[in-house]
Amino acid sequence: MEGFRERIQKSLSIIRDSSYITAFTGAGISTESGIPDFRSPGGVWERYRIVTYQEFLSSSEARKYYWKMKKEFTEQLLRCKPNRAHTALAELEKMGLLKAVITQNIDALHHKAGNSPEKIIELHGTNLYAHCIQCGKRYLMEEVIKILEDVNYEPRCDECNGLLKPSTVAFGEPMPEDEMKRALEEATKTDLMFMIGSSLQVEPAASIPRFAYHRGAKLIFINRAETPYDYMATVYFREPASEVMDALLNGLKDLKSS
Ligand code: NAD
Repeated sequence: MEGFRERIQKSLSIIRDSSYITAFTGAGISTESGIPDFRSPGGVWERYRIVTYQEFLSSSEARKYYWKMKKEFTEQLLRCKPNRAHTALAELEKMGLLKAVITQNIDALHHKAGNSPEKIIELHGTNLYAHCIQCGKRYLMEEVIKILEDVNYEPRCDECNGLLKPSTVAFGEPMPEDEMKRALEEATKTDLMFMIGSSLQVEPAASIPRFAYHRGAKLIFINRAETPYDYMATVYFREPASEVMDALLNGLKDLKSS
């Protein structure tokens, strides 16, 4: 692998030659904000078993268990702030370079960093809200977790008494159609996609960078571990995402002022 500086220079020249830049992000962009990724030790994912969508719908015990996990995860999320990789993506948008952020994350840190809501596509939903599965009424997750103990971990809608469910996509739940469609549209338009912090093992989300690649886009991978798709990357970085994004942003600012 070339040195860090060479790879940054190479990336800057690809950025300069691109007209429609997008980013695809996964749990790895948020580890430096204190949210463990899926496969590292220490996350709620390690201590709780998976509850599928079908179990959530059919079993009161499964719902209670799921809500306990969500309470713990939400309390952790409320303490986390965007890191330099998130803020660099927000700055790239302000510079007019970044057109969309397609994320698998549910932590809303791209919103908190300052990317425009209409440019963020959340493929797996968001932990900011819960909703009624009957009438669709939306609730702030922060408020729902406050009442969980009072309602024996089975919160219900105050309009229609339907079950509340976190607005994240559970295992076995269909992907949100609109988000998937928008993500594919962006992957069609993009000529450069940053792939930041994903093992690319969760489908169909992982098909987005593959789709962009097969439509002729260049890809810059910023991921600590190897992925099965590293061959698609024109440049790849194993360094921490915040370090790489900082270096790219500073390089772009230098180019602009020179
Ligand atoms: P993953 O855990 O499978 O892979 C994360 C990848 O990021 C790993 O390959 C790791 O090497 C890399 N990584 C970790 N820290 C990094 C850093 N600082 N810089 C660069 N690379 C780093 O994550 P995934 O592919 O997103 O799949 C996990 C699924 O779980 C997703 O569907 C997501 O919805 C969910 N999830 C979300 C969050 C979140 O919202 N923050 C956290 C955990 C899991």
